[in-house]
Order: sequence, then structure tokens, then C-alpha cells
Amino acid sequence: MVNKHRIKAKYGMTEGQYRRLFYTGQDRRCALCTNQISLGDSNTCFDKQAQKFFCRKCLFGINALRRLGGLLDKAVEFVKGEN
Ligand SMILES: [Zn+2]
Repeated sequence: MVNKHRIKAKYGMTEGQYRRLFYTGQDRRCALCTNQISLGDSNTCFDKQAQKFFCRKCLFGINALRRLGGLLDKAVEFVKGEN
């Protein structure tokens, strides 16, 4: 069970909004890879900036992309060139 006070403080929304976003808004799926995720699982992460739920693997990638900032497009070209 997710602590409601912790949710409000951490995400700026009520437990009801948080659960609605997860169950209805995202149909219990990672916003990026669309794999099934579950609330309370340590591999399910809520990203405050995107206001979305992701699996841990996708959020790790997204955060890595954010750190690249202005180098993102250049990095994408490198990765595409590897195929
Ligand atoms: Zn994912």
C-alpha cells in the first residue's frame, strides 16, 4: 500500500489522482515501452517532470538523455549509425 501523505508531498497530487493516472491514464503500462508495470513494484517509477509512470529501465534512459542536453541529437546520430 502506498502512503498517501508521501505521495502528496513527493508528487504534488492526491493518492486518488496518482492511482487514476496509473490505472486509467496509462492502463498500468510504462509510458515509453508500454510494458505492463505495477504500483508498489520497485521497478515502477513516477517521473515528476514528465508526470508519467515508467519502468526503471526506461526512466534510466530518459534521465540519461536529459543529462545530454544539447548533445542529444548528436548522440542519437551516433546510435543510429551503429545499426
Ligand atoms: Zn518502459
